[in-house]
Amino acid sequence: MADDKEQQLKDIAAQILKDKVCPDLAAGATQLVPGEGNPDAQILFIGEAPGKEEDKQGRPFVGAAGKLLESMLEGTGLSREAVFITNIVKYRPPNNRDPLPAEIDAFLPYLKQQIEVIDPTLIVPLGRHSLSVLLPELKISQCHGQPKQKNGRHFLPLYHPAVALYDNSMKQTLVEDFAIIPPLLKKITKQVK
Ligand code: URA
Repeated sequence: MADDKEQQLKDIAAQILKDKVCPDLAAGATQLVPGEGNPDAQILFIGEAPGKEEDKQGRPFVGAAGKLLESMLEGTGLSREAVFITNIVKYRPPNNRDPLPAEIDAFLPYLKQQIEVIDPTLIVPLGRHSLSVLLPELKISQCHGQPKQKNGRHFLPLYHPAVALYDNSMKQTLVEDFAIIPPLLKKITKQVK
């Protein structure tokens, strides 16, 4: 099952290259950062777009925000290897600017395919850009740490870990919000069974 899903995820990444999605972004980036993790993950984290280090390594969340994400995960007893991590936009925007609506739209079909293949129990949008794609009717400042359900899927919107890099007081909020993940997962897993 996992092997099959792994192949399907590789096929989605290959298709992005074949379809020449966002050629301008691709031209300025080192490589595609399609996402990584357990293809059978119960939890799918969806961030914004690769930064400098992610662009260099071809892996999501491996820079400063990634270190924070990993430590938050570990704090809740989850390992990076157990989950799947991706972004709404899969090339680094120049100078880490915000992704443009057209770029978000261009990558959306592939993000949807990734969600279908992984079929996670819980989707965690990280930050306002990811939230604006997955639950556009909500505002991160008002809904962070509150479980939501839409189209038969469970979501837990969280602040982007990078906010704690600029505002240390946000770290506690993030820690508290991440702590919701294990009991929530337990609850919704029971509902699914
Ligand atoms: N920020 C993101 O949103 N994604 C990454 O992969 C890295 C930093």
